[in-house]
Amino acid sequence: MTAAPTDLVRLGLALDDLSLVQGAGGNVSVKDGAGVWIKASGRRLRDLVDESGRAWVPLDLLLRANRGEAGAEAEIFAHRPRPSLEALFHALPFRVVAHTHPIGVCLHACARGPLPAGLIPDGVAFVDVPYARPGAALARAVAAGGDSAGVLGAGPLCFILRNHGLLVAAHDVDDATGLTWEIERRAIGLAASLQAEPLTTIAAVVAELQAPPLRAVGRAAQPATLMRALPPRPDPSLPPLFPDAAVFGQELAIDPARFYDDELLAATFHQRRASSAVMILTSEHRRVLVGTNAEALASATEVLAAALLLERTLVPSDRAAPLLETEAAALVALPSERYRSAGPPAPQS
Ligand SMILES: [Zn+2]
Repeated sequence: MTAAPTDLVRLGLALDDLSLVQGAGGNVSVKDGAGVWIKASGRRLRDLVDESGRAWVPLDLLLRANRGEAGAEAEIFAHRPRPSLEALFHALPFRVVAHTHPIGVCLHACARGPLPAGLIPDGVAFVDVPYARPGAALARAVAAGGDSAGVLGAGPLCFILRNHGLLVAAHDVDDATGLTWEIERRAIGLAASLQAEPLTTIAAVVAELQAPPLRAVGRAAQPATLMRALPPRPDPSLPPLFPDAAVFGQELAIDPARFYDDELLAATFHQRRASSAVMILTSEHRRVLVGTNAEALASATEVLAAALLLERTLVPSDRAAPLLETEAAALVALPSERYRSAGPPAPQS
């Protein structure tokens, strides 16, 4: 194993923007000899500057996992630091792979109907990939899409991942970052085709979600608990639009009387949470985000802001194409997602 290539960090920092990735979402990689440097699971793109924020995986191992070879996937995720849970599609035959969750792209990818003309720059090959569950299924869908387009290996190549985001494969970092930003710029410009109101920014929605005071509830017998009121969803019955919204937006309905007592809310959270560092407690007219540490709450708030922005845009115009209810439940139950929603890893000893 060699030192991480310097353009891996450059790639991560160029895409580390709230409009492109929320919380620890998104992942990037650079191939280097026989291996692939990939963002570590549960870390942000900016963390690629740290050794603990990046993982090295043999390319051959990724390819074997993509062929379904027994044990290969488990071997990948046994690496420390653990590579991104979306590591498998980083085996694409391009030196650089950049996967993001851009707000504008997600807006079109979570809407019913075909993608708008002009989303992808002229002359750039792209594939419209139907929704597939993150992990092996999505890696297979991406590889099949590239194969069927007959363009795999040439480049650069873009994939619009329905109900998920954007994947750009290129031979160098500048092409990957330039295309990601250009497609997102076009997506935002085309957002008017989906709704009447001007599109707000995700930064504005994050600020709105962070406006209610963060309450700290202390009790000697349990860990510190932080909570903050959340605004209502435009349609509370709408299933989540994308996987991270399913994982970080799952709600637990509780007795409305508990909402008047912070100690009771905190106790409910600690009784009911499994490995999740955050949880949304809800009654008919109230929602509150509860967690044990500020960083996990901040990460979840970014994902929830993205989900709310998309819902506020797509629900009034009846264009939302959500995940199936059964898919949302399956995502939450995945062992890998339970690990991820547990929040930032403990400091390495
Ligand atoms: Zn993703």
